[in-house]
Amino acid sequence: MSLEKAKIALKKYFGYDNFRPMQADIVQSVYDLNDTLVLMPTGGGKSICYQIPAVTMDGVAVVVSPLISLMKDQVEGLQATGIKASFLNSSLSSSEQRAVEDDIFNQNIDLIYVSPEKIVSPNFLSLLKRVKIALFAIDEAHCISSWGHDFRPEYTQLKFIKRHFPTTPIIALTATADKATRKDISAQLDMYQPKIFVASFDRPNLSLEVKPGQKKFEQIIQFIKKRPNHPGIIYCLSRKNTENLADKLQMSGLNAKAYHAKLPPAQRSKVQEDFINDRTEIICATVAFGMGIDKSNVRWVIHYNLPKNIESFYQEIGRAGRDGTNASTLLFYSFADIRTLREILTNNENAQVDLKLAKLERMQQYAESLSCRRKILLNYFSEPFEKACGNCDICKNPPQYFDGSVIAQKALSAVYRLKQRVGSSMLIDVLRGSNRRDIFDRGYNKIKTYGAGGDFSLRDWQFFMMQLINLGYLEVAYDDNNVLRLTTLSHEVLFNKKKVELVRAQVAESRAKKAKEKAKVKPKRERVRDELFEILRVKRRELAQQRGVPPYVIFSDATLEEMAAKRPTIDADLMGISGVGERKLQLYGNFFMDKIIEYIKSKVAEGEKIQGSTYILTYDLYKQGLTIDQIAKKRALNPVTIYSHIAYLYEKGEPIDLFKYFTEKEYERIEVAIKAMKPPFQMKDIFEYLQEKIPYYKIRLGFSFYTKKTEV
Ligand code: ADP
Ligand code: ZN
Repeated sequence: MSLEKAKIALKKYFGYDNFRPMQADIVQSVYDLNDTLVLMPTGGGKSICYQIPAVTMDGVAVVVSPLISLMKDQVEGLQATGIKASFLNSSLSSSEQRAVEDDIFNQNIDLIYVSPEKIVSPNFLSLLKRVKIALFAIDEAHCISSWGHDFRPEYTQLKFIKRHFPTTPIIALTATADKATRKDISAQLDMYQPKIFVASFDRPNLSLEVKPGQKKFEQIIQFIKKRPNHPGIIYCLSRKNTENLADKLQMSGLNAKAYHAKLPPAQRSKVQEDFINDRTEIICATVAFGMGIDKSNVRWVIHYNLPKNIESFYQEIGRAGRDGTNASTLLFYSFADIRTLREILTNNENAQVDLKLAKLERMQQYAESLSCRRKILLNYFSEPFEKACGNCDICKNPPQYFDGSVIAQKALSAVYRLKQRVGSSMLIDVLRGSNRRDIFDRGYNKIKTYGAGGDFSLRDWQFFMMQLINLGYLEVAYDDNNVLRLTTLSHEVLFNKKKVELVRAQVAESRAKKAKEKAKVKPKRERVRDELFEILRVKRRELAQQRGVPPYVIFSDATLEEMAAKRPTIDADLMGISGVGERKLQLYGNFFMDKIIEYIKSKVAEGEKIQGSTYILTYDLYKQGLTIDQIAKKRALNPVTIYSHIAYLYEKGEPIDLFKYFTEKEYERIEVAIKAMKPPFQMKDIFEYLQEKIPYYKIRLGFSFYTKKTEV
């Protein structure tokens, strides 16, 4: 089996011109009948790795997938591309099941998605034994490992596949990278000398940002206002939070819903369906949300609270921007969260508490980092990442250091005078001279540093405290109400005048503001593009509603963006857009091209000069039945120009009858002349060869006909 065939299928069904790095090698590995293990981040493009072999190899591909809701979405997505796919699980009636089984038996199907329970059932097994199987794909393969974070006992039975089908290749796919899980997967599946592919876990299209967890609601409103019509998810720690937040957002006029495990199942699936179908824009959810959805146009993810570890965090932000176009992520961070999480971990979790605390600490380091955040993430996944990414808040606003020795002295001396008995927020209040009742009750207002830090804002102080802790000048006693304690380094500062370098929060902010003001002067082209994108998006939603599928199943955001930028108006050009395959061209092409043509015409009518519009205007008049001369007159152009438009459109495959413009006889003579010449052809040479008896425009059209005819 050749990769050439794979590439053709990639374009034909999915509309993509190229494989992403590694996809081609993985497909080849399956073609070579190797057992294959694929580790790729969410959104990396895992599905293509088994779907392309499935449609190009002989026999049916059996895909094991743990989530029923995901199966339905995936199958819908595949059917929209013209691929024969179905699923079998408990949600189908028995007659529906039988119909699918008949399709399998008749080899009338490329991919069958099944639950792990189904595949081990004796009836299904005997059906599989009677047909040709191209491959087994195990999606979310980490579910097989008890090391992983999402262990599913039913997955452990999958070992039986190799026993019954020893020569059929198995491809296992997961977004979980760690080595223990990896080993476990291949052992559990009994894979034979598996080829292992580990893709980069970087998701460069996701921007990373961390903000202090104060006034979160206002920050969220600002964030969302900057992103109108962009679907997004806000992850919260508690159920109560999801509900409160959704209520508040609704009261601010936003289209938000809450989602958590305790909602009645019917309501839960409605919330999810509405989000998938772009009917609800914002979901405030606990981490229960997201596993079962495959929505590619989630444009942002906010973490209202700090996640427990980097694995979860990365998986959750990974749900944004799966279509590969830009998406934003924002994490709110506060000491209070650390404290809550520590309590949860120490009190509720019975196993591996130390490990879990250590993981939380790594998460905290990420939130507190003063260097590129992506570096921290990728290094965490053992992927060396040297350069600064340019798409995180730190890279965009590198910290500016200043001499913070006096600030440090004030803070440390206050800790000392308060006998190491207070936490960070009390300390800050004392330093800022707060009138809090308990300060007076306890006499904290009498210490020398009370009010000594009044010249900095609360926000500044929080940022300073965080740095002092990270730099080792202070310690948080997590086991003792989070009170602050002095360290050996503190003594250096207090008694030996050690210099302390700090970063000020506001510097970063004002720089960010400046950058934003600069960005406000957008180039005109981009504004126009936004407008057309919006038109196409509305069309997409309308089509999705009519057909009862999620909008991204019609086309992804990335595809719409490219359409809006390139504005194809004829089939050949539309086919050139990434994400437009044969079936979608057939089903939806005209709807979108009509919108683009309408848009271009409206712009031309407003007097704008638009690239590519000239062909459209000519073609439009041609379709209305005007002659070339009439078109030329109407457009105030030379007929020769109009002929060249017609020739161009014909070459691009539009249904134009060239023999309206010359006779068969004339064409034969032109063809003889062309064949007598060596390329590159000069129109003039042909004209002279034909003794100047056939006019240029006919030669031009004849040449198009010849080109098309001889095209391979
Ligand atoms: P994963 O399963 O790894 O999370 P998907 O298979 O859902 O990722 O792919 C993520 C997105 O990337 C999908 O929208 C998919 O169509 C797109 N994609 C995959 N491969 C390619 C490719 N070669 N070129 C362009 N887009 C691709
Ligand atoms: Zn960075």
